[in-house]
Amino acid sequence: MDILDQIKEAGIIGAGGAGFPTHAKLASKAEYILLNGAECEPLLRVDQQLMELYPDEIIKGFEAAGRIVEAKKAIIGIKNKHKNVISILRNRIEVLKLGDFVEVKELQDVYPAGDEHVLVYELTGRVVPETGIPIQVGCVVINSETVLNIYNALQGKPVIDKFITVTGDIPNRLTVKVPIGTPIRDVLKLSGIENFEGYAVIDGGPMMGPVLSNLDGYVTKKNKGFILLKKTHMLIRKKSSSVEQAKRVNKAACEQCRMCTDMCPRYLLGHNMQPHKMLRSLNYSLSNTEDQKISFLCSQCNLCELFACPVGINPRSANIYIRQKLIEQDIKYKPTQTELHPRKSREYRLLPSKRLVARLGLSEFDKSAPMKVIQMEPEFVHIATRQHVGAPAVPAVSVGDAVKQGQLIGKIPEDSLGAAIHASISGNVTEINNDFIVIRRA
Ligand code: SF4
Ligand code: SF4
Repeated sequence: MDILDQIKEAGIIGAGGAGFPTHAKLASKAEYILLNGAECEPLLRVDQQLMELYPDEIIKGFEAAGRIVEAKKAIIGIKNKHKNVISILRNRIEVLKLGDFVEVKELQDVYPAGDEHVLVYELTGRVVPETGIPIQVGCVVINSETVLNIYNALQGKPVIDKFITVTGDIPNRLTVKVPIGTPIRDVLKLSGIENFEGYAVIDGGPMMGPVLSNLDGYVTKKNKGFILLKKTHMLIRKKSSSVEQAKRVNKAACEQCRMCTDMCPRYLLGHNMQPHKMLRSLNYSLSNTEDQKISFLCSQCNLCELFACPVGINPRSANIYIRQKLIEQDIKYKPTQTELHPRKSREYRLLPSKRLVARLGLSEFDKSAPMKVIQMEPEFVHIATRQHVGAPAVPAVSVGDAVKQGQLIGKIPEDSLGAAIHASISGNVTEINNDFIVIRRA
């Protein structure tokens, strides 16, 4: 079996949150392969610790991925504040004699340093086209945990666990390895809180992660962190407002100051994303869909809404609303610019992470969340058949079957994009439905 097939068999998807099947991403040829170790969402502490704890595995997994795409260079992007991790990685690259192929480049501590378009520009000087993806400029971007999973796949181990940071306004901040399918409540209890009344939980980072509508879900390969905050925290109140509420506030308060546009990371890269125009369009009921099409250029990084806007209104929501309306009319954006250049002012308009954390009201929670070895032993795991981009996995087991940890339980449907799923514990299959394969611990 070749390496790409081993990756496919192991059920690897982008562990950074997007969930794109890795075997499909690595099927292209690229000049550069880039490791996204920026972890730019405040409070999350997974990637930086994995690179410190498993440097050889990550470097070797990254090298393997780079060879598959026939890259000339493999570049690890990591924030310059992680001095210790940078020194460990550089030392191990030398010891492993991979210095001709793999190098470490330092990134500024700004948000969103881990946005793929921003990362590609910072590491290669190339600008990904509007609505485009990195491969269009010869780059493949891959996350640290994903390359650790590639290394494991090469040792015959499929993806059955996920590293997750549990943090926020809690007594115990920590990062743990959790079997996929574990109840989210079990993971949240590691925070030292038993009763979640009065708390809200952000699934992922504070900028892009949504507030969980209920806590009765199960861990998937895409989870990265859970942030617990009191329901009264301003970030929770802001994130919990509906599109209709956002529309009402937007109508009343936009002063067309352009701050949302001037700080927009995509605008600063030279794209035509100009959120203030979306507000203008909504507030004056303008119907020129030509102007509205730029709403397709938004990465939803949320910088405009949670930092830039001086009156606290919702440009990102305006983009989403307008884009949805255009999609309903089957209108799409067609990029016209062939050569893109970052704006001259870009370097002065980057947003330092510390300022962002302060604005989000999270400074007192911006603390370490050390990796802890905790034996999580859920009685049941609910393994989602769709935890990735593409078609859901097709069950390869039946109710009543005994399964071993690591056994294939769901296959990629024929001729489809998808990812395989495996048993994260040994036990018996008790239920199979449209969404889950349920296993009871033996
Ligand atoms: S949405 Fe906010 S930042 Fe953007 S133009 Fe209006 S007031 Fe200014
Ligand atoms: S969310 Fe706002 S700042 Fe981010 S890309 Fe979209 S318009 Fe720009």
